Amino acid sequence: MLKIPEYLKDLEPYKPGKPIEELERELGIKNIIKLASNENPYGCSLFVKKAIEREAVNLNRYPDGGAYYLRQELSNFLETDPEQIIFGNGSNEIIDLITRVFLSENDEALAFQGSFVVYKLVSKAVGATFREVPIEQDFSRDLNKLLDKITEKTKVIFIDNPCNPTGVANLKEEMNQFIQNVPDDVLVVLDEAYFEYAKEHGVPNGLHYVDIINPKIPEKNVIVLRTFSKAYGLAGIRLGYGIAKKEIISVLEKVRQPFNVNYLAQVAGVEALRDQKFVNFSVEQNEKGKAQLYEGFEKRGIHFIPTYGNFIMFKTNDAQMLYKNLLLKGVIVRPAFGFNNYLRVSIGTEEENKIFLEALDGLI
Ligand code: PMP
Repeated sequence: MLKIPEYLKDLEPYKPGKPIEELERELGIKNIIKLASNENPYGCSLFVKKAIEREAVNLNRYPDGGAYYLRQELSNFLETDPEQIIFGNGSNEIIDLITRVFLSENDEALAFQGSFVVYKLVSKAVGATFREVPIEQDFSRDLNKLLDKITEKTKVIFIDNPCNPTGVANLKEEMNQFIQNVPDDVLVVLDEAYFEYAKEHGVPNGLHYVDIINPKIPEKNVIVLRTFSKAYGLAGIRLGYGIAKKEIISVLEKVRQPFNVNYLAQVAGVEALRDQKFVNFSVEQNEKGKAQLYEGFEKRGIHFIPTYGNFIMFKTNDAQMLYKNLLLKGVIVRPAFGFNNYLRVSIGTEEENKIFLEALDGLI
């Protein structure tokens, strides 16, 4: 009989947003809209598409395990040393690598209540204790409470800034203070998956806490995570990265799979970085979509949490029921994990947002 580790027994697998194809199969309907996984509704850069078409004939060879060209491109773009970057099969992979390197059975990871669910999953998967720090009534997060919960067992702190699913963020001043006060033997994971959407709104650029930009705090241990899945519109290609001081990156590099980032992802990443016009366009459209949804919610008397991301959490009397009824109308949203009466909707195109809002009528 195989022995399953005790700590895995009550671990629930991650539940992704429902794929369009699955709902099509289940209901036999077409014209489904998916606003469930915080994807970019505008696709990706045209240059990426062209490059993938061009390079699709080169798949017989293994990719460059060191992702040389992508590394050069990104380090130029961020003005970092190439050795301060690790690439992953999505930033999810890097979250996983972090737990494998820095957490084991006697250690503890900390995060705010209701943070991105993967933190809990991967921390528990290595047998570590995962502790959640309560958030405030209005969903804001008090970084001092996080500091108070640090014990000598705490090895890693995860902060999604902005937070998925609530959309709230911690701003520059409070984050500066927090980082200054974190003990030097704790790794802070600043997960900035939605950075491009948030950066104009007072949310700190985590690179300031990595010794590249601010060499004044070199003793602090911060890894910033970013992704091509959101504003770059490349969720399907699976490409994310981490930036930290070399000592942290080099140890993560030891445990990653040699070819974790595939050839097309590397090609796509280079082209995507060169097309910042597309990113800016996506962010501008997101602002418009946000205003459209806010207005739609207000008109319908629906309580929502103002967001720093490309998604909005909103309140319902019966989230499960509304989720199911929206599915029947061909609209896929997402239960907001950890917040029972709430759903999360990703901001779509103007047309998608309109369909979603109209689908709510009669259901609420
Ligand atoms: N962090 C946060 C906060 C997220 O919301 C997501 C995606 N939902 C990720 C990380 C993972 O993104 P990816 O693996 O696609 O880069």
